[in-house]
This record gives sequence, structure tokens and C-alpha cells, in this order.
Amino acid sequence: MVDINTFLIEHEIQIRLSFFFGVFIVMALWELLSPRRKLIIPKIMRWSNNLALVFLNSLILRVLFPAAAVGMAVFAKEEGWGIYNYYDIPFVITVISSVIILDAVIYLQHVMVHAVPVLWRLHRVHHADPDFDVTTGARFHPLEIILSMLIKFAVIVVLGPPVIAVIIFEILLNATAMFNHSNIRFNATVDKLLRFIIVTPDMHRVHHSIETDETNSNFGFNLPWWDRLFGTYKAQPRAGHENMLIGIKGYNQIRQVTWLSGILTLPFVGKVSDYVINRRSQKK
Ligand SMILES: [Zn+2]
Ligand SMILES: [Zn+2]
Repeated sequence: MVDINTFLIEHEIQIRLSFFFGVFIVMALWELLSPRRKLIIPKIMRWSNNLALVFLNSLILRVLFPAAAVGMAVFAKEEGWGIYNYYDIPFVITVISSVIILDAVIYLQHVMVHAVPVLWRLHRVHHADPDFDVTTGARFHPLEIILSMLIKFAVIVVLGPPVIAVIIFEILLNATAMFNHSNIRFNATVDKLLRFIIVTPDMHRVHHSIETDETNSNFGFNLPWWDRLFGTYKAQPRAGHENMLIGIKGYNQIRQVTWLSGILTLPFVGKVSDYVINRRSQKK
């Protein structure tokens, strides 16, 4: 019998790519059939640039970290590093808790990139997208992708999660990021119920609002619990989903926010706004 772990590690790239393309195609079709909002920029222009960035990011990650997070989990296991490799804890508990812990760290990382001025420069790339759809979900600056991978490495080394938990987490995060950024419409009751277990597109769209207090809400990517637990949850945007403005105030030059060249240089231009943590002033 083939060991499931060995099979997953050997076919990790194929499995992850299948999930990526599978979820992407489903969301793209759903957006066509039942869009939530009218897009501002022609899809062909945004998609070609956003997807070019996704391709570039995958290439950079492959070159820098060929074994990625899964490789780090294998390494930690071999070396006996991390809490879960040290203590004898039931496998199911280590798998489930590892996925939850990794997700909590991604939430905290997201809060951090909004608060720290230099990191906000990187994360602006994700928020400067003038529209919100499935391609926004993977639109991150390469430097933020690298930072994210290094943080994951650190968690894996300390925690020592089972390899399968890291594979599940990577697939889940990728799939849910595409789902919760998609421009799809569904029943309000379904949305309300889904919000107990997963971040829905309506929940995450609030985070892409041009309004500062709304951007500073709903940082979760996967599990919706962290925002409620830590007090960053906002149910709906004030202007409503159809009328709310998406993006960052003052960033409306198409060349800067849509073209790949503009996206890649975005962290290095302009001032850091009074949005980040040490620039906010007390309201009089
Ligand atoms: Zn954000
Ligand atoms: Zn987002």
C-alpha cells in the first residue's frame, strides 16, 4: 500500500495546481453568471496583469524556496523540531489544531501588514486593485509573498505540524482566498450561515473598502472567527455592497494600480498614508 503522506508529498505540486485551477474556473464562471457588482476596469486588462503577477510570484517562490512550506514541515519532522514532533499528541488533534494555528498566524500577519508603515507599502498592492474579484485574491507583491513564506517557516519550525496539515492549509488558504475575493452573488441567509465557518466574499469585501475604518476590519482569510474574537469584525459596508468604493484613496491612476509595472513599483512610490499605526492622529 502506498503511504498517503509519501503520495501527498510526491504529488504536492500537481494536487495544489489542480485545486488552484479547479476553484479558479468555478469562481470565474460563477462571476460571469451571477456577478455581485459591476466591474470598473475592463476584465481583460485587470486579469492579464493580475494573473501575470500570480505567475511571476509562483516562479519566484519556486526559485527561492523549491520545497516551500511542505518541505519545511518534512524537514522539521526529520530533525524532530517543533512542539508536535516533541510530544506524543494524537494525530487528528495535531492536524486540526495546526490548520487553525496557521490560520490565526495569517490573521495576525494581515493585521501587522496594515499597521506597520513599510509593510503597508507592500500590502497596498493587494488593496490598490480598483475592482474586487477572483484575481484580486492572489494579487500580492512578491516581497509580501516572500515575507509570508518566511513567517510560515517560523511557525512550522516552532510548531512541528504534520506534513499533511501544511498541505491541507496551503490548499485551503489558496482556495478560500479565491472564493472570498470573488465577485459573486448569493442568498443573504446563506451568507450569514456560511460566515460562521468561512470568510465569505461579502465579509471580505468590507476589508477592500476605500473607507479606512472598513479596511481596518475583517482581516481573516479563511476562518471568520479571529475577527469576531479580536474585535475587528464589521458585518457590512456603510454604502452597501453595490455602491461602496473599492481600493485606496488617492490611488486611481490605471497605469499605477492595474499595470504589472505599476503594481510592482507601487511599494516604492508615494507617501505612506496617515492610515498606518503611528500616523493616526487623535480625533478632536
Ligand atoms: Zn488587507
Ligand atoms: Zn483581500
